Amino acid sequence: MKAVCWMGKENIQVLDVPDPKILNPRDAVVRITSTAICGSDLHLYDGFVPTLEQGDILGHEFMGEVVEVGPDVNKEKLKVGDRVIVPFTIACGGCTPCNEQLWSLCDNSNPNAWIAEKMMGYSPSGLFGYTHMLGGYAGGQAQYARVPYADVGPLKVPSELPDEKVLFLSDIFPTGYMGAENCNIRPGDTVAIWGCGPVGQFAIRSAFMLGAGRVIAIDRVAERLAMAQASGAETLNFDDVDVVDALHTMTGNRGPDSCMDAVGMEASGHGVMFAVDRAKQMARIQMDRPIVLRRAIMACKKGGTISIPGVYAGFIDKVPMGAFMNKGLTMKTGQTHMMRYMGPLLERVQRGEIDPSFVISHRLPIGAAPEGYKIFRDKQDHCTKVVLDPWATAA
Ligand code: NAD
Ligand code: ZN
Repeated sequence: MKAVCWMGKENIQVLDVPDPKILNPRDAVVRITSTAICGSDLHLYDGFVPTLEQGDILGHEFMGEVVEVGPDVNKEKLKVGDRVIVPFTIACGGCTPCNEQLWSLCDNSNPNAWIAEKMMGYSPSGLFGYTHMLGGYAGGQAQYARVPYADVGPLKVPSELPDEKVLFLSDIFPTGYMGAENCNIRPGDTVAIWGCGPVGQFAIRSAFMLGAGRVIAIDRVAERLAMAQASGAETLNFDDVDVVDALHTMTGNRGPDSCMDAVGMEASGHGVMFAVDRAKQMARIQMDRPIVLRRAIMACKKGGTISIPGVYAGFIDKVPMGAFMNKGLTMKTGQTHMMRYMGPLLERVQRGEIDPSFVISHRLPIGAAPEGYKIFRDKQDHCTKVVLDPWATAA
């Protein structure tokens, strides 16, 4: 089959690789019909997350048709022929975190947990296509994928909804929604969201769904800010204003009720601090650039909430812990607990409350994945989200 392989920093190649097979009794094999490139993939592309190996298959936002199931898959939940969305987190369904609906913290789905434990104390769940530290699972930017614990994660979707309307239930819609839920929004609240990438876009819409009165969205990319405005957000360009000052001015000096970091470890910025962060990240002295996190803590109102859907991988410097503590802030974060949100959000799509395809700018054949990664990373060609067709031949 064809698959998008990581061959090194900024080196993506589409290669012919062996088809996946059932390895464990609760596996299924899915023939993938649509797959997307995520902002999280860019951290791999840019070489900032350790434990990838040359030839690893990337991708964790995919859907398709079940073509094979292992003998122990619960046939009432999943059978050959079902059309499914596959969540990016892998969960066993039987451990303590799974029983508490903390799916992205599954105790059993990461066979390489010991590597993550060395860095983080405990491991999150395994993830598709996202390093050996997080399981070493082949990803879904491919024609087929093996899906472990296949009767737990995959969500069946009705045939009348086209792929583009449901594909993002595999990650970014639930991620934006959980990011908004983690803001503890009360009716009428003001929510500031850094990052108008795909996650930020779904976070903006989700914040309004959850009752926000105002959303103030921050980025520097014109078309992403325009998309945020079209969703009802007020916008700030961090190239033009001091964002913390502007947020205070816009909120009568109180600060937003909650602040979301939907940017994560590769945040951009200005001046000396940004240069220092970037140099330290390159030298592996600090793994992440916490530019947005610092600003969110400084901007947030006293007693407010910081929500962090943006991905961090390691250690960060100069976080204003004094402000965080003395303002009595709350911080909530995590890889998304996908299975909590997929069903309810599918219902919102079915009711016509949202059409998630609004975020797509590029539809490419899988062979064009290297170009897709580059234009998405560099925000070229008004790129907001790339969907790959695993079966289309290159144009
Ligand atoms: P993206 O890279 O397309 O978007 C990030 C946006 O942030 C870009 O538009 C960029 O211009 C903007 N940005 C950079 N620096 C900024 C700053 N200082 N202030 C404001 N905006 C800034 O990525 P995405 O797909 O939207 O993903 C966003 C983050 O969410 C990534 O870190 C990704 O890894 C993470 N993510 C987390 C989960 C989860 O489960 N928690 C799931 C999916 C994605
Ligand atoms: Zn993702």
